[in-house]
Amino acid sequence: MHKNESGGGNMAPEDTGSPVRLSVALLQAENRRLREQLDGLMAEARLNQDKLRRFDQLERKVIAASSLAELLQTLLVDYPALFELDCVTLALVDAQYEAARILGEGGAAQPAQLLFLHDEQPLQQLYAAGARPLLGAPRAALDFLFEGQGAPASVALLPLVHRGAFIGSLNLGSRDATRFAAGSSTDFLERLAALAAVCLDSALATERLRLAGLTDGLTGVHNRRYFESRCLEEVQAARRSKLPLVCLLLDVDHFKRINDTHGHPAGDAVLRYVARLIRAQLRGSDVVARYGGEEFVLLLPATPLSAALEIAERIRRVIAAQSMPVQVAEPLRITVSIGAALLQPEGEGDVAVLAAALVQRTDQALYAAKQGGRNRVLVAGQP
Ligand code: GH3
Ligand code: MG
Ligand code: MG
Repeated sequence: MHKNESGGGNMAPEDTGSPVRLSVALLQAENRRLREQLDGLMAEARLNQDKLRRFDQLERKVIAASSLAELLQTLLVDYPALFELDCVTLALVDAQYEAARILGEGGAAQPAQLLFLHDEQPLQQLYAAGARPLLGAPRAALDFLFEGQGAPASVALLPLVHRGAFIGSLNLGSRDATRFAAGSSTDFLERLAALAAVCLDSALATERLRLAGLTDGLTGVHNRRYFESRCLEEVQAARRSKLPLVCLLLDVDHFKRINDTHGHPAGDAVLRYVARLIRAQLRGSDVVARYGGEEFVLLLPATPLSAALEIAERIRRVIAAQSMPVQVAEPLRITVSIGAALLQPEGEGDVAVLAAALVQRTDQALYAAKQGGRNRVLVAGQP
């Protein structure tokens, strides 16, 4: 029997030959084990590096987004693609329906992964334990966050907090039940949530400012400046698509009398109400703007003249049938006159000339409606 000179103690010398061979074999085994461990660590490091690289890419995109729509595209479309997530949804606190209005403005469809909350309360309830991400299996109570997005097997819910208030929740879902485990590290996710919150708040503030310059302060519909530029875009689009574009001009009948009889504030209330009634009759893709005092201008893209006249007639009827929200002894009723004209896309000149001709013909039709006795819709003839 050889004495174990390595001092290792617990070896079985009888079946491994000399002590030297024994040590070499042990060292090789140890070496293999270390190498495997190192390979594992390297693979993990590479994964982390890859995750960091993708995260960096996402962060840059979030920061560079130049509009609310682009930011939403980054969070709701690019993010799930980049990180192989099955669904990402965003719940936004939008008490004044402002974000909904900003996004609906261009007539574009709103992303299905976006939902609006009318106050903070559902988020306060959800993140009751503090504004920290929640990871794990989804609870039935949270189904509303993933409606129509399939049923994720694990979720990460990120609270979006700005200046101490919840502005929303970014919700990540995976069909892999192990993807988001309760108790795992949330450093990346917390950083993403903080960034998304700041960028969403700033994008909303920017859009708010932009809208303020294009919105009529009294009625909340667009102003004439917005109409002038949108009209050019719609004429251009109609000429390209060969789809009919109709312009309507609406003027309140004998509006001066309302001011004279009930005062200017009553007149203002009537204008606000008329704007609301008009909007309620239109589609998201239609445009309505306050053209001047008690005149509103409407653009109905991709609408045949007969359909546009039906809409105009409906607006006229609805307004005539309503009692205005004004505190006076008797119900206050008003009527409106509406002129209509169909774009003549084959006309001479560039887009600006065509647009000006369209508005001018609409105005002439309105004038004829006034001359014809008011409270009616009249259409411009062929030029
Ligand atoms: P018609 O049927 O021919 O259109 O008669 P009208 O009285 O409606 O038309 P007119 O152009 O004579 O009067 C429009 C009035 O609208 C005059 C103006 O003082 C009033 N007006 C314009 N802007 C505002 C506003 O922002 N608020 C209020 N309350 N009145 C306004
Ligand atoms: Mg007028
Ligand atoms: Mg008038």
